[in-house]
Amino acid sequence: MSDIQTTNQAILVIGGGISGITAALEAAEAGYDVVLVEKNPYLGGRVAQLHQYFPKLCPPNCGLEINFRRMRQNPRVRFFTMAEVSSISGQEGEYDITVRLSPRYVNEKCTCCGKCAEVCEVEIDNPFNFGMDKTKTAYLPHEFAFPMRYVIDPSIACTEEGKKCQDACEYGAIDLDIKETTFDLKVGSIVWAAGWEPYDASQVEYYGFGEYKNVITNVMMERMASQNGPTGGKILRPSDGKEVKNVAFVQCAGSRDENYLAYCSGICCLASMKHATYLREQYPDCDVTIFFIDIRALDRLEDFYTKVQEDEKVTFIKSKIANITEDEETGDLLLEGENTRTGEQIRMSFDMVVLATGMVPNKINMDPLPDVLFDDYGFLIYDPEKAGIYGAGCVRRPTDVASSVQDATAASLKAIQSIARR
Ligand SMILES: Cc1cc2nc3c(=O)[nH]c(=O)nc-3n(C[C@H](O)[C@H](O)[C@H](O)COP(=O)(O)OP(=O)(O)OC[C@H]3O[C@@H](n4cnc5c(N)ncnc54)[C@H](O)[C@@H]3O)c2cc1C
Ligand code: SF4
Ligand code: SF4
Repeated sequence: MSDIQTTNQAILVIGGGISGITAALEAAEAGYDVVLVEKNPYLGGRVAQLHQYFPKLCPPNCGLEINFRRMRQNPRVRFFTMAEVSSISGQEGEYDITVRLSPRYVNEKCTCCGKCAEVCEVEIDNPFNFGMDKTKTAYLPHEFAFPMRYVIDPSIACTEEGKKCQDACEYGAIDLDIKETTFDLKVGSIVWAAGWEPYDASQVEYYGFGEYKNVITNVMMERMASQNGPTGGKILRPSDGKEVKNVAFVQCAGSRDENYLAYCSGICCLASMKHATYLREQYPDCDVTIFFIDIRALDRLEDFYTKVQEDEKVTFIKSKIANITEDEETGDLLLEGENTRTGEQIRMSFDMVVLATGMVPNKINMDPLPDVLFDDYGFLIYDPEKAGIYGAGCVRRPTDVASSVQDATAASLKAIQSIARR
């Protein structure tokens, strides 16, 4: 691919989650050219995987769609999916960037007719649903994907299966000869919005994640509750597909523990309360127990906490669960610990356990790394001495969507100021 025409008056945004999208749109709507680079085949980041937003419990796709419409209407934003920045050199006001594009193998002629997926017989674990189901190797990443375009997995690109998909496409949208390419651009400043990934719950061995099927994580719960998720929106026990009657949430699963993830992610208490509402909506008789060390629900979010507490089927117990074991016959899970308010020992059995795991900042694989500062946990630190590259959203700290949006707007302004200074 040839270089795209940008000058040092343009802004690069790395990451197309809610923070990156916001930063890109704010700068573009202020009259600046923006190039947005996203490594997934779709924009929206982790928010696209959520079922509902706390505290209002509305579907995130509405908000994302409004942003995608703004993007479609604004020619100043050029975005690239399946794209990663491979090098950054220069300084504030004059950066040289190289972007690596992985092949999607499907071009803009795709109508999403789905014929390629119909003939395709090879499946892979579905990354969008955290491997809880399979997807074809010719697939649409998810129902509301933007851009709405299929992807051919590289594992079948050079195989008979890939050829079969290509032959099934009446629109000439599949090109299996596409190779990885790179292109260069010049920009004046950069917004770094690469977001977060879920903490790997299997690190906390005594909770049995990965070993016991009915121990899941909070991000898996989001997908399970979503209509376009692995169970069509029904929350079911992974081991036997049964409806759930008694579900536990284990807060700070690995978090605030020097041995695992030393900091508090700030949002996983609210996420579990939100999940309690998912369960209670689907199962009026389901009991929900939330084992917590402290509850984090600040400002306006305190009201949401109060509302969830009012539900008599939701019980909050102050305890750090020490151990989870599985009854091999039933798949039920025994939780042990101590109620730190009463001093009583806890031995309680549940159908399913949800681990409230924290958020870990995404690393950017680039050698050498640009001149930016990170704290001990990998979050980007703002340093006025190192102007030109600005973090936005969860690369700076674990946070919710509203704060990410504010943060991204601030980063966008900083990026504009960098250009104005030169
Ligand atoms: C279980 C759970 C439930 C939650 N529920 C809520 C809720 O109800 N309400 C709420 O307000 N918040 C909620 N949150 C928080 C919310 O998910 C975050 O606030 C939000 O995702 C932050 O957006 P972001 O753009 O900063 O990061 P992300 O959503 O992670 O987006 C970052 C984007 O950057 C891309 N990227 C990463 N690396 C690169 C790279 N090298 N090159 C190019 N692109 C890259 C990623 O693919 C991704 O698309 C929840 C979090 C959890 C854990
Ligand atoms: S790639 Fe072709 S066959 Fe597949 S969904 Fe798109 S238009 Fe249909
Ligand atoms: S938000 Fe709640 S569950 Fe998450 S780390 Fe902080 S205290 Fe623990």
